[in-house]
Amino acid sequence: MSNQNAVKIERISWLYKKEKLAAIRNAGSQTKGSIIIEVATETDVTRLIKDGFLYGALWLPAKLWDVTLRAIQCFRCWKWGHTQSVCNADSDTCGRCAKHHPTRGCIIQDLQEARCAGCKKPGHFAWMTRSCAAYKSFAAGQRATENRLNEATLAVHRGQNQNQNQNQNQNVTTHQFRHDDDGYIVIGNT
Ligand SMILES: [Zn+2]
Ligand SMILES: [Zn+2]
Ligand SMILES: [Zn+2]
Repeated sequence: MSNQNAVKIERISWLYKKEKLAAIRNAGSQTKGSIIIEVATETDVTRLIKDGFLYGALWLPAKLWDVTLRAIQCFRCWKWGHTQSVCNADSDTCGRCAKHHPTRGCIIQDLQEARCAGCKKPGHFAWMTRSCAAYKSFAAGQRATENRLNEATLAVHRGQNQNQNQNQNQNVTTHQFRHDDDGYIVIGNT
């Protein structure tokens, strides 16, 4: 925990998964990255959005972000938006044939025999996003969330956040901000 900008930071993490982060570091070309900042109070949310975040010698603008904007997929039930560590499905669903057995060990290799556990359609495996209606609907939900959060961010800049937050975020304990590759941050509640 630190006290930068007089805002109490609960946690800072990279937006990326470990593998992507390693790839970025190895390539050595990317000079900007996204970080997620979590704070606990509404006051700190407002301050971070309005003032940005001083990170070392860097000043980073911030915007609201939500954990649902991560494109994560569960390796047990193959739904989008959660991971296997918090999955509450009754049993494993196969990512290759959509039957109720673990994906590992499934003999189906050929796309012609595949069935997606997400959208239940034949012809693709559960992780093949391009042809999957379940993924497309998840991604549309993400875009709607992102639009909503961008508008909420703008409202904070306009000083209109007070009433909204009283209604919407009463029980919220953590707020997340993201500093974008484009130089912006997103925020979210967990
Ligand atoms: Zn699951
Ligand atoms: Zn299977
Ligand atoms: Zn599908």
